[in-house]
Amino acid sequence: MDSWLGLHYPATDIPAQSRKLFLEHRIRVITDVNYKPVPVLPEISPLTKEPLDLSRSGLRAVSPIHIEYLQNMGVGASLTSAIVVKGKLWGLIACHHITKKFPHFYQRESVRFLAHLLSGELALFETTGQIKSFELAENIRRQLVAQMKYHKDLLHALTRDSVQFTDLISCGGDAVFIMNKWELKGNTPNVEQLKSLLYNFIEKQPKSIFLTTNLSDHFPEAKAYQAKASGLLSLRIAENKYIFWFKPEEVQVVNWGGNPGNKAFYNEEKQRLSPRKSFEKWSQKLTGISQPWGELDKSIARSLREDISHFLLAQQREEIEALNSKLVEANKELELFSYGLSHDLRAPVRGMDGYLSIIEEDYAKDLNDEGKQMLHMTRALTEKMNNLIDDILEYSRLSHSEGIEIKEVETSKLIREVLEFFHLEQSFPNSEIKLQPQMPSMYGDRRMLFQLWANLLNNALKYSAETEKPLIEVGTTVKKGSEVFYVRDNGIGIDPGDKERIFETFQRAVGSRFKGTGIGLAIVKKIAEKHMGEVWVESIPGEGSQFYFYLGDLRKQKVI
Ligand code: ADP
Repeated sequence: MDSWLGLHYPATDIPAQSRKLFLEHRIRVITDVNYKPVPVLPEISPLTKEPLDLSRSGLRAVSPIHIEYLQNMGVGASLTSAIVVKGKLWGLIACHHITKKFPHFYQRESVRFLAHLLSGELALFETTGQIKSFELAENIRRQLVAQMKYHKDLLHALTRDSVQFTDLISCGGDAVFIMNKWELKGNTPNVEQLKSLLYNFIEKQPKSIFLTTNLSDHFPEAKAYQAKASGLLSLRIAENKYIFWFKPEEVQVVNWGGNPGNKAFYNEEKQRLSPRKSFEKWSQKLTGISQPWGELDKSIARSLREDISHFLLAQQREEIEALNSKLVEANKELELFSYGLSHDLRAPVRGMDGYLSIIEEDYAKDLNDEGKQMLHMTRALTEKMNNLIDDILEYSRLSHSEGIEIKEVETSKLIREVLEFFHLEQSFPNSEIKLQPQMPSMYGDRRMLFQLWANLLNNALKYSAETEKPLIEVGTTVKKGSEVFYVRDNGIGIDPGDKERIFETFQRAVGSRFKGTGIGLAIVKKIAEKHMGEVWVESIPGEGSQFYFYLGDLRKQKVI
């Protein structure tokens, strides 16, 4: 027969049913295309009520369309064997004879055996090839990751070191990378063309990987540079970070066994489809198409994306950590500074206060009313400064105290001490204080807990002092599933917007009519945190506030 080497046949020449049949029954013999089929009788089996299934029979007739196809080709007999790779019909060995021919059993078995052998070899070849390229890609990726860690600069690591991302996927050396900057390697479209490709096409793709061998069919503008970039594999790593691999156009001439456009037509006479008549060589020139991408290219690109994402995440984490430790450092320095400053200011301010009280006692009589008023204001200001310095020192001391000593503290006793120590009942004679009779003990640093209660109680008294009947209640309740202490007042209350910030240093939510430094609650918060606890407030403005706090269970610890 004439040689058909290199000729292509359209996929439709082998219909789906035949493909399926070949998977089950790997060999098909037609000994004479002019055979006369003999019907099987009865047509419907009386046992199964269905036609007899002849799929696996070597003697059955084949589709009349196929017979006609062979007749049109001038074939007298055929023997076809399937090559099946990984469960899929990969190809066929089709033997044709010009006249009728009966290949005997051994010949048929030899062909089947050959096809079987070839199938195995092909599967092995493909798998080994894939494993090899995967291993190679793994090594390149590993090296790229090492470069990323070393340079700490993605663009540099991918494009300027010994291994480059272009090595990862065979792309004819044409590739680009972006991160607001474009880095072109090899023969690529120019930056303007790339920008348009990115913004008008690639950015609109739903998936992070886009792959084609005929870019201009998807994006007509790409026709202008199809010689350089008919094939495209694009990878979105993150917003504004893309990698492109390009493959140049490979003009291909495909020789068909007959014009593939002339497929089957409807034959009026036979009342069924008839296959095409001419199998004359028919050449087709294919343009705008690149070599295909490798089977693994997509997964290699996906793995690279994972590597880069990990790297970027780690880099971000490092940056945040560095920034954090800088902040901690700066904070420490600031605290030390304010501690030093307050400490050094303390003596002169105390001195000033002392001299001012001497002036007030001994010389006030020599001053006129305006002078007396000014002296009075100066003393008030000095007192304010004194308080501020004391509070800052207290707060800084808390920051610097390393460990805290844990002791059992009787809560009611401590509260009474606080009230007595500050003469709170005398300073706020109109206020009523209701203490819950039985209060659980606390475990912590006695001195700090004293400060904590002092600040909460002082605030409650101070900010309810203007109420008609100031009432302060102290006790325990259950919140968030555990027992907490509370200090409740019926004072001015706190605006919801201020509930968080009042626990920061120097944050006040009241005007100057209430004296204060804005440090008390910051001290409370710090003490609660030092005891593995938490403090928060609930309030209705104008009706009062409830401060809640709990401490961690530190009973078994002596020092933390
Ligand atoms: P200050 O010295 O100003 O009292 P704090 O840190 O103790 O400083 O409190 C911060 C701010 O929280 C106060 O200025 C006030 O606005 C608000 N605040 C604290 N306790 C109460 C309370 N019991 N009722 C209303 N507002 C309060």
